[in-house]
Amino acid sequence: MQITQHKTELEQQLSARRRLQPIPPAWRDAFERQRLAEFSRLVSLWSPLLVLAYVSCGGFTWLSYGDHLRGPDLWAFLAAEVVSVALGGWGLAMARRPGWQQRAQRLIPLLFGLTLFAKVLAGLAMLDPWLAVNQVYITLLVLVIGMLALQLSLRAALFGCLLGLSAFLAAPWMTSLDYAVLFLGHFLLTSAVCLFVSLLHEDRSRVAFLQGCLLDLERREVQRLNIELDELARRDGLTRLPNRRHFDEVLAREWERACRTGHPLCLLLVDVDHFKAYNDHLGHPAGDACLAQVAGAMQSAIHRPADLIARYGGEEFAVLLPETQPEGASELARRLIERVDALCLPHGASPIAPHVTISIGVACTAGRVWGSRQALLAAADAALYDAKHAGRHQHRLNDGRQSSAA
Ligand code: GH3
Ligand code: MG
Ligand code: MG
Repeated sequence: MQITQHKTELEQQLSARRRLQPIPPAWRDAFERQRLAEFSRLVSLWSPLLVLAYVSCGGFTWLSYGDHLRGPDLWAFLAAEVVSVALGGWGLAMARRPGWQQRAQRLIPLLFGLTLFAKVLAGLAMLDPWLAVNQVYITLLVLVIGMLALQLSLRAALFGCLLGLSAFLAAPWMTSLDYAVLFLGHFLLTSAVCLFVSLLHEDRSRVAFLQGCLLDLERREVQRLNIELDELARRDGLTRLPNRRHFDEVLAREWERACRTGHPLCLLLVDVDHFKAYNDHLGHPAGDACLAQVAGAMQSAIHRPADLIARYGGEEFAVLLPETQPEGASELARRLIERVDALCLPHGASPIAPHVTISIGVACTAGRVWGSRQALLAAADAALYDAKHAGRHQHRLNDGRQSSAA
């Protein structure tokens, strides 16, 4: 019921196809967990590459503009480099530590923003425009790669961009105001592209997550229906007892076990007496109701968990009693007859009693080798035949010689 309700909720939400699908409260935790697991995987995969990209870009700046690095520009460059390496390195190292992923998920956009902040500030303070432009753009490039590679959420990306942008507030007080506008233009353009990619990714990952949840619910519903179907296929619709198919499977299993362990196995075949006359007299619906009551009464007489009573077909029932001696089986047969008698279901057309009665044939493996389970069934059937011929409303035990009233 709950599965169907959740499924409908998800289907409605997905068919509405809204941008940035909101995650329903019941799935929010799972969504955050999945996102965290994905983030941890991406950090492990990308952090060595990001460090390598940053170091090689820094080395390239050093090689190309080494002779520009002097005076205040050298200090600004080194200060920004120390801040970037320390922040970036620490953030990525933390993110790889077990138990820190959740904090790192919030921390990394902050560190990215601070790195950019430091680099923009240093760029604005530099006198050499080539050096200033180069070191800001290289950092911007590596951070854009990092942001896209780590698939930061839209909120995290926005936070990082705004933090980087705040460095421009210092522009009016910096020396190189002339290219602050250029920096700002490029920064805004790059941020817009990054935010757009983050938006698309976030939207897709939300839809994919909800579709995954829907698939999972459908799989669970199919499993539940299969179990229900299997249960239905093994149950008799009229009496609610296990049916012949189920009984045959259990008999095969118990027969094998009895052969292996040498423990006794007893089988009872029960038949309602003069049932055709009952139907003819009271009608088929009354016959159905009578069978259901007889089944209920017999089931209430069976207590051991391993015992099984099933509808064998028509007005016949079969009872399987593992690890039971013939005396125990005869005792149960007597009890079944008594329980059905106690129902006192009027049977005006019966020459035996004024109420519905049953006859039972019993066969046991104890002290007798029947050879196969079919032979055991045939032995119980022969005992039932004897019980019928002896006047019905009684049980007979087939001990391999001749059926006895036991
Ligand atoms: P006996 O004492 O020798 O067993 O006589 P009987 O009349 O019970 O045996 P017979 O095999 O002649 O008839 C069985 C009857 O059971 C015939 C059939 O219509 C009836 N029957 C079988 N299955 C059902 C059922 O599901 N519902 C009803 N109402 N009757 C059923
Ligand atoms: Mg019959
Ligand atoms: Mg009968």
